[in-house]
Amino acid sequence: MIGSSEKGCIFRSTHDENIKGESKVLIQERIATADQLPVTLPKATAAIALRDLCKSFGKFVAIDHLSLTVGQGEIFGLLGPNGSGKTTTINMISGLSLPDSGEITVMGYDIRRQARQVRQLLGAVPQETALYEELSAEINLDFHADLFNIPRKEKKERITRILELVQLLDRKDSRVGTFSGGMKRRLALGRALLHNPQLIYLDEPTLGVDVQARRAIWDYILSLREQGKTVLITTNYLEEAQALCDRLAIIDHGKLIALDTPQHLKHLYGGQVIELETITPTASVSQIRVLPGVKNVIQENNRLKVTTEGTDGLVPQIINLISQDSEFCDIAVREPHLDEIFLHLTGTALRD
Ligand code: ADP
Ligand code: MG
Repeated sequence: MIGSSEKGCIFRSTHDENIKGESKVLIQERIATADQLPVTLPKATAAIALRDLCKSFGKFVAIDHLSLTVGQGEIFGLLGPNGSGKTTTINMISGLSLPDSGEITVMGYDIRRQARQVRQLLGAVPQETALYEELSAEINLDFHADLFNIPRKEKKERITRILELVQLLDRKDSRVGTFSGGMKRRLALGRALLHNPQLIYLDEPTLGVDVQARRAIWDYILSLREQGKTVLITTNYLEEAQALCDRLAIIDHGKLIALDTPQHLKHLYGGQVIELETITPTASVSQIRVLPGVKNVIQENNRLKVTTEGTDGLVPQIINLISQDSEFCDIAVREPHLDEIFLHLTGTALRD
């Protein structure tokens, strides 16, 4: 059992992993009654700390001894392919499902013993945007405000401010069912911000939204950091991780593979990538492969991609080898992309 309150919240057993979508969110919301948090937390307190977290579904190990710390004021990304355990992790942080073992604290509060405080601190934008399609945008927010016991006299003004922020004020009376995917995502984000949480988590915030809406959502997320909020996002879009995140945890099969700033991850694991295009396919691949500093060579017809541990002196050596049997059209040296780092670390691609 994790949640009960004097204010009529429901009890919930630990066996509710099967609850999906809307009902899941509603349960989460009902549990989160608005107890005011009296304390100002010291800056040094981690926004989120996971310690040796484990979670299995039957025999399947979804989260495997995961430990990480998210600092206050960070935009922190959980990056991993589908099925790597991102949603499972976030569901445990928000108390929707309990870890088998390990510890989770949110702003120093233990998610098992201080679940209500944790819920008051968290704003959730779940993977499936669960809104009341039959109701207007404004009434959706109104309902949420009541769940969080937002005082009546503040409610109207807060809802208007939030609708303005997510640029839906002019559509406040429209049924949510008539909204595009991007508009629903924005409304879900607005709803998460309504009770002024210190920490917002967004599970795949831009899944299924168009490029323009994605940009708008990114801007909102970045503005949250400016307001001093902590943001945890999960994604399997590398551009998203790169555009937003101060630090990234790369996870695969429920295990932490790497954790650092996007820039550091590139330096630590990537080296450089040399891309070459030749007139005819070169026969020198095996010789290039054994040059000191070369990590990997991929040949696709006339194209060659050489991953290195640092390019000092390598480019001339490669040019020398290739010019023995072919001619160049193009040559470029660049930083590795995050997906190449992911491939290097895990042996699998991040996206299909
Ligand atoms: P992600 O969000 O990274 O795509 P999830 O955390 O949703 O991944 O899932 C991680 C793994 O756990 C997947 O293999 C998924 O099938 C499995 N899983 C998640 N929830 C359940 C559940 N309720 N019952 C059984 N398996 C589950
Ligand atoms: Mg997920």
